[in-house]
Amino acid sequence: MENQTKHKPWAEPYKIKMVEPLKMTTREYREEKIKEAGYNTFLLRSEDVYIDLLTDSGTNAMSDYQWAGIMLGDEAYAGSKNYYYLEDNVRKYYGYKYLVPTHQGRGAENLLSQCLIKKDQYVPGNMYFTTTRLHQELAGGNFVDVIIDEAHNPVSDHPFKGNVDIQKFQDLINKVGAEKIAYITVGAPVNMAGGQPVSMENMKQVSELAKKYGIKVVLDATRNMENAYFIQKREAGYKNKTVAEIHKEFCSYSDAATMSGKKDLLVNIGGFVAVNDWDLFEELRNMVVVYEGLHTYGGLAGRDMEAMARGIEEAIRDENISFRVEQVGYFGKLLKEAGIPIVEPVGGHAVFLDAKRFYEHIPQIEFPAQKLAADLYVESGVRAMERGMVSAGRNKNTGDHYYPKLELVRLTVPRRVYTQAHFDVAAYAVNELYEKRHTAKGLKMIYEPKYLRFFQARFEAL
Ligand SMILES: *Cc1c(COP(=O)(O)O)cnc(C)c1O
Repeated sequence: MENQTKHKPWAEPYKIKMVEPLKMTTREYREEKIKEAGYNTFLLRSEDVYIDLLTDSGTNAMSDYQWAGIMLGDEAYAGSKNYYYLEDNVRKYYGYKYLVPTHQGRGAENLLSQCLIKKDQYVPGNMYFTTTRLHQELAGGNFVDVIIDEAHNPVSDHPFKGNVDIQKFQDLINKVGAEKIAYITVGAPVNMAGGQPVSMENMKQVSELAKKYGIKVVLDATRNMENAYFIQKREAGYKNKTVAEIHKEFCSYSDAATMSGKKDLLVNIGGFVAVNDWDLFEELRNMVVVYEGLHTYGGLAGRDMEAMARGIEEAIRDENISFRVEQVGYFGKLLKEAGIPIVEPVGGHAVFLDAKRFYEHIPQIEFPAQKLAADLYVESGVRAMERGMVSAGRNKNTGDHYYPKLELVRLTVPRRVYTQAHFDVAAYAVNELYEKRHTAKGLKMIYEPKYLRFFQARFEAL
């Protein structure tokens, strides 16, 4: 360790009131468990995991303020007061006029895709997200990637690698015509690119171009508070603005947002779709009763809406969001300093190992990232997930595998759950594995589900 006194130390901006013990297991035990799970970390039992970095989705630790809100759940079927409180907070912090709650992000994506996409229309976006693209396709749309090229390069240090390539968006408009474009989705930061942010400048340009052609802009606002923090840190003119101000300005350049509350909003379940257009709201509110529940609960209990409404207030405070992103940065720095190939710059919610460089000798068709996640579990009990070939799935028209440029393992940081010490342990484990990387072998897929295959696919060791 370097001399600690040279750096200003930091610490978690909370203290711990309740603990959940962790189970320690042996390597032999974990070898057996990963084999039983078909080398898919999604198929492990959580109790067999030591440090769980599978996802930051719904894995958040709630505060005493949120838990207190849980006790104030108004479980009326219609018109729950928790719904109105959530609506107030969405208006106040996001700025959209109308709110439809959903059980989680994909519920919102389903409703919006079905309302806005006509068969064979195109839906451009800054890199795909698994559930978002699937709902667009199920609604009859064709996803088109319009992210800048740097996003596909794990070593480019572009500060806003999530940006939309305005020229690619314009080219698509010229090629297919604006009426064939359902809307454009902007995700910020971009999960699949490694949590890379989008600049305010870029969002403004997207909005201007879309407006010129009458195309709607839909924000995937799932982690937009993290994005706002990156803007505050990296973009000229935003240093003295609060994350709350930046976040709201960013939302103002879009017409609608889908949201997974399981990320930014510090809850275990919940989501929403929010819009400015009354007619679209009417349609969404009609559709939600088919798929989720009445428009004032959308598949959630009143208490869940209360926890989410309170989560907005907490998450958006500068000291909370900066801790969140900087904790991820701390973990990334440990790995980088050990010489481990990771995606840079480190994003807002996770550190991504570059499996193409980590397991250089394993060809992509033998799923190096899938294997790396499995090996890390066996090595240490740390659970990560694949973001490469398996996640990318197959082209719906040709049936061929997609071969994404990025073949990554995601080590995702749940909010407020682990301390610095857990990340020291996880980084140590990755390093141990890196030292013996040459002996690793690939995998063969033996079971492949039709939709979102990464969740349930099974593999055999080669
Ligand atoms: C998680 C996520 C979703 C989907 O939300 P769920 O709550 O998991 O259904 C959509 N977009 C992004 C960027 C996400 O990270």
